[in-house]
Amino acid sequence: MVPQVIKLCCQGCGADLEVSEEVRFLTCNYCHSKLEVVRDVTSTHTRVLEKLERATDQIVGNLKVIELQNDLERLDREWESTRQSLLIRGQNGGLYKPSILAAVIGGGAPIIGGIVFATFAGRHTMGWFPLIGIVFSCFGFINLATGLSKASAFQNKQAEYERLREQVVRLIERERGV
Ligand SMILES: [Zn+2]
Repeated sequence: MVPQVIKLCCQGCGADLEVSEEVRFLTCNYCHSKLEVVRDVTSTHTRVLEKLERATDQIVGNLKVIELQNDLERLDREWESTRQSLLIRGQNGGLYKPSILAAVIGGGAPIIGGIVFATFAGRHTMGWFPLIGIVFSCFGFINLATGLSKASAFQNKQAEYERLREQVVRLIERERGV
């Protein structure tokens, strides 16, 4: 007696399958899931025994990408709050990125102004008056030093953030197979 062909539906991908009725285990030609034919009282259907490993790998890969994207977002958030904490308040109340140029201008102006004042006052007046210029110059040097150290702290933190971000972006690209 020739075995009858029965129509089944793959539980893995939904494809229509035709198998002879004596078959119990099969592999779907479309999604390559390993299936078992289950015969109930009212129906015959398939049950997935083993999905294609590539599908599982892909899911793991996707999870890794999601995890890495979360890392990226966390990195961006952390940098944003670090950046905010490193900004300096300008005279008009605005916040500025500390830069070497700003430090040189902010420190250089009182240094030069102080020296000019001290020289001029020293020529024309006596006593402590020229000292005001010296004090002014000293403030300028302090300004210059703190300005430069803030600018370099900002640059270092930014470089560190960009390096880490680059690494995570590269990992995501690798995971996606770009
Ligand atoms: Zn299938």
